[in-house]
Amino acid sequence: MKITDLKCAIIGQNPVVRVVTDEGIDGYGQAENPKSYLKPHVMYYKQWLLDEDPTNVERVMMKIRRMGSFKPWGSAVSAIEMALWDIAGKAAGLPVYKLLGGKVRDKVRVYNGGVRFPMNGSTPEDYAENMAKMKASPEGFTIIKQGISFHSAMPWQVPQFSYDEPRRGAPHANRGLLTEKGLKHIIACVEAMKSVLGDEIGLALDCGPGWMVTDAIRVAKALEPLNLMWMEDMITGDYMPYVLADVYRDVTQATSTPIHTGEQIYLRQNFRELIEGRAVRVIGPDPEDVGGLAELKWVAEYADLHGVMMAPHGIFDGLIGLAGLVQVCATLPQNYIAFEYPIARPDWWYEIVDGLPSPIVKDGLIEVWDRPGLGVTFNEKARQYLSAGDETFFD
Ligand SMILES: [Mg+2]
Repeated sequence: MKITDLKCAIIGQNPVVRVVTDEGIDGYGQAENPKSYLKPHVMYYKQWLLDEDPTNVERVMMKIRRMGSFKPWGSAVSAIEMALWDIAGKAAGLPVYKLLGGKVRDKVRVYNGGVRFPMNGSTPEDYAENMAKMKASPEGFTIIKQGISFHSAMPWQVPQFSYDEPRRGAPHANRGLLTEKGLKHIIACVEAMKSVLGDEIGLALDCGPGWMVTDAIRVAKALEPLNLMWMEDMITGDYMPYVLADVYRDVTQATSTPIHTGEQIYLRQNFRELIEGRAVRVIGPDPEDVGGLAELKWVAEYADLHGVMMAPHGIFDGLIGLAGLVQVCATLPQNYIAFEYPIARPDWWYEIVDGLPSPIVKDGLIEVWDRPGLGVTFNEKARQYLSAGDETFFD
């Protein structure tokens, strides 16, 4: 089998990759939905893919893997990798999880990082009220993640929150030392959320990036009695092209609250210091940024050897990404906690993709399906959503 074409369409906001072969089998991959600018970057790799056998996934990846980088510049490589696995599975008549070593669980746990209700403000009451709505959402999530501090509106809405001025611009522009008022406000909001959740539902916090080490240690220690699932991205994170594993290690060593990072990191090599140094307790690579499904699996296995847990990122990964997450997470070792459930935007995405269970999430879990490849396909309704210039994407 040979690759004859690589295509990319922006469907809604998600870049979707289609790899076409000479045997009538094609494969799909997807990149995160705020990355509509990726199309030329995806097409850049076409020159190295043509005439390769897509079922030798690793051999193809060796040609292009080093030509990527931290989020968002590893996305195109990651989406292509996913599409290759889709083809390899379809060609073998097997679901992708079988090619990744086989499933070790029939249902995969997801956590809520994306089913959201508008926040009225940033007071503890606002956080409690909002958490009650998420607790009642029909997916029955057993873990909910909420944004606080620099990963929320607190820098603008809470007076005297930090010693730096509130900044706007590219995502997560704030960084600096918190005031005592800011520290106490965060703790009060987390306590308010826990009073709603009790010990029925786990609470994780998306925190930054941008914290100073002293604040990170103080807050993580103050919250120890609440048994949080994790505190995410306090030091580095989203769209930062570096890790600072040694700084994370200072925080992790000082508290029993699990510290988490990793959604922006590309490739196993860039997880090495975090994992070998036990600098965090949980890592959260995103299959659409880390380099693909097999890359995520490798990182998870290596983390497990070092006592580090795994909670993959995924909120923007779309429905093809959701399928990829289900396939790979079914195969991960028991350091696996849950992956972040992607929310497809706009809503019509749910009408154009066939193959997902209905409802998708039940009791906070997704049942693993057995159709070949990623096991999801576009139906005829998808064509109407192709933009000008992408009309021949499915041809
Ligand atoms: Mg995050």
